[in-house]
Amino acid sequence: MNKRDASQKPFVLYDASRLLAEQDCACAGDEPAPLALHSGGPASGDTDCACAEANASAVALEASGVWKQAPVLYRIPLGGDCEAVFNVGRPSGVAVLNRPAADVLRTFRQPRPLQGETSRQLAMAGLLIPADAPQDTRCPTDDPAMLTAWLHIANACNLRCTYCYVQKDGAAMDEATGRSAVEAILRSAVRHSFRAVKLKYAGGEPTLNFALVRRLHAHASDQAEQQGLALRETLITNGVNLADEVLAFAAEHGIRLAVSLDMCPGAHDSQRARPENGIYERVRRNIERAVQHGLRPHLSITVTGADDEVSADAVRFALGMGLPFNLNFVRPPDGHLSDAQIAGVIRSVRLAFAEMEANPPSCSLLGVLDRADFARAHSQACGAGRSYLVVDHLGRVSPCQMRMGRTVGDVGMPDPLAAVRAAFTNPPVDERGSCAECAWRYACGGGCPLLGKPLAGGRTGASPYCAAYRTLYPELIRLEGFRVLKLHGLC
Ligand code: SF4
Ligand code: SF4
Repeated sequence: MNKRDASQKPFVLYDASRLLAEQDCACAGDEPAPLALHSGGPASGDTDCACAEANASAVALEASGVWKQAPVLYRIPLGGDCEAVFNVGRPSGVAVLNRPAADVLRTFRQPRPLQGETSRQLAMAGLLIPADAPQDTRCPTDDPAMLTAWLHIANACNLRCTYCYVQKDGAAMDEATGRSAVEAILRSAVRHSFRAVKLKYAGGEPTLNFALVRRLHAHASDQAEQQGLALRETLITNGVNLADEVLAFAAEHGIRLAVSLDMCPGAHDSQRARPENGIYERVRRNIERAVQHGLRPHLSITVTGADDEVSADAVRFALGMGLPFNLNFVRPPDGHLSDAQIAGVIRSVRLAFAEMEANPPSCSLLGVLDRADFARAHSQACGAGRSYLVVDHLGRVSPCQMRMGRTVGDVGMPDPLAAVRAAFTNPPVDERGSCAECAWRYACGGGCPLLGKPLAGGRTGASPYCAAYRTLYPELIRLEGFRVLKLHGLC
């Protein structure tokens, strides 16, 4: 379609491929909803968090005779006669409509059957919903298919990042503990009817104990096969020590790589707090070497707000390499964030957004911003307390890597996940104080539950990053709309 045609024929463009970030956290979902008409291809990954699972739900277009416009749509002009449109009540990606398509959308203010390609595409993009859809718009808590586990391979690290929440020493996990941990995780997975397990080899720095990663990979592969579970593995590393044999092993055995990166030479090195300089150059070279080995590292960019340019530099590097990335907002161990820090995070992200606008990636930006996900509705920002557990180097179990000191059991237990679930509450966003009234809640999930403002009765409220989220979400929607438009050569 050329630009002239674009102004006359109705079009609905969107990309529901989702950037599944490789973070250190427990993600909120599994796989993206298969709604992409124009997909740049999903880039799978892991954050440092516990993923929350997504229910992939294809739109049963033929199942409902009559459709109507979704009740709450967020619309942002993109220039020309185009706009980005997002279903706030049921996030399912960002669609770009030209004026003729917007006219078709308007006709669905009164319920009517789908007629023609444009209305079908509006339904596929999640902007139309079946007229008989239930009135209760609350997002149900989904039933995750994958259990994610952090395996604390080493409590030692070769860096001292200023924002790190791990209380490090020189200790490492031994093989007997690691094998017991794998068995305990799989035991819980079977007991709770998960279909897949994701192991995150983490620390500290897991490459300092990489021989154990090799052995645990073999053990986990055997055990998972015997139990009929799918296995997915990620090495979460600072990228300093990526020897050829580490990269070759990861590539050969399908182990994904997630690398922490806070770019630009001075800032990366100063945030890394290591006596010698040059860490930035070494990590950059190692990422390039990983790509040469056939890996596609996910870059986990921690936004501290301390230096405006750092995140933008890291994003520029990721875009230049064509690598997936995620902007993780710093999570201070004491949960305290000053107004100045939050303002710094907003400034940093805006500079990073400017990089994305200048050089839009082929992959979706819907999951790039901290714990938010604009591709699917979810009621929790992560799977902690539900589909996530952490095993430290001594075999002790806790609900989150930020809570490693607060043990709820060990790998000798029959069902460590049950102990985690009993000990950790991750409230749905509808129960997090002011979040319940927030239009963004099913894209946001309320942020990390550990950072949530304490409310009366021991309840957890909105994230201290709320103001940053509310400021940046509309900008991300506009950016994704612009990216989709650009991908189609329409701007
Ligand atoms: S509780 Fe917070 S730090 Fe822990 S996995 Fe969830 S989002 Fe990440
Ligand atoms: S943290 Fe803020 S933006 Fe997120 S759901 Fe709660 S109120 Fe909304």
